Amino acid sequence: MKIRYFDHAATTPVSEKVLNEMLPYFNIQYGNASAMYSLGRQAKRKVEEARKKVADAIKAKSKEIYFTSCGSESDNLAIKGVCYANKEKGNHIITSKIEHHAVLNACKTLEKQGFRVTYLNVNENGFINLGELANSICEDTILISIMFANNEIGTIQPIKQIGEIAHKNNIIFHTDAVQAIGNIKINVDEYNIDLLSMSGHKFYAPKGIGALYVREGINFEKIQDGGHQEKDKRAGTENVAGIVGLGCAIEEIYDNFDEYNKKLLNLRDYYISKLEESGLDIKLNGDKVNRLAGNSNISFKGVNAGELLLALDEARNLCICRLCM
Ligand SMILES: *Cc1c(COP(=O)(O)O)cnc(C)c1O
Repeated sequence: MKIRYFDHAATTPVSEKVLNEMLPYFNIQYGNASAMYSLGRQAKRKVEEARKKVADAIKAKSKEIYFTSCGSESDNLAIKGVCYANKEKGNHIITSKIEHHAVLNACKTLEKQGFRVTYLNVNENGFINLGELANSICEDTILISIMFANNEIGTIQPIKQIGEIAHKNNIIFHTDAVQAIGNIKINVDEYNIDLLSMSGHKFYAPKGIGALYVREGINFEKIQDGGHQEKDKRAGTENVAGIVGLGCAIEEIYDNFDEYNKKLLNLRDYYISKLEESGLDIKLNGDKVNRLAGNSNISFKGVNAGELLLALDEARNLCICRLCM
């Protein structure tokens, strides 16, 4: 039985093209990318091809991309890595109250280690206040970490302006772009981004592969000890199949960006307008305009969200995932 799957913010299926690209790297081209013989060198070449695809997608340089195991690891490496490497300059971090747990809990850990964290409020639509951000900056501030787009309500933050404020004050700016990749065209220079986290399984690559962009010249420390992979910043034998999948997926989604995005926008707005016309007592959470193309988040008055979810799961019957559309 096919199902209607409405939770691409939680995870996406692996696209067929991505899956086929990946398959040989499990059992035919299975070389260790750090090995010097040809099987290893071939794997290494594919890893570097994928690195270029990821870099191209966000207008970065290949050497600024580090592969990780997931979005959570990228967030941890970015936040802890920057804080540990820059602790002589200060111990203050600014983030928001609506970040993913990977960011919030990394900050909690840092607080236990003597760092100070400001958690910015957001308004009713989920936006941080730029004035409050500027006012929170002090001499000790070394890092601002604000998510590009929220995973629940889809609100897209004014990333360019946040980056401007950070850079005017000589502060490093990290953004968790896990929800934004594939949904927004990102140019790390235009958006003033120094570090950016992404995760493959949110855009049709498999679970267990992520990447972190770190602008050339930004100091950050590794958080895991081991071999010299990823320029000594992320130990562990490269997940070659996953990396190939990530590269293929990001290329595929941006090659088809306009068409895909338009389809999602139409579906989103159709869905929201139908609910609005229905006469049900609903409230759209988040911003109507600055929200992810694939996101709708709605409260139904008097209805418990958990109960509604289970009832809808009971009534499932058709799949409208990207593969089936
Ligand atoms: C899914 C998600 C993460 C975590 O990514 P994983 O690869 O599942 O660890 C982090 N941030 C946001 C905004 C997410 O949506």
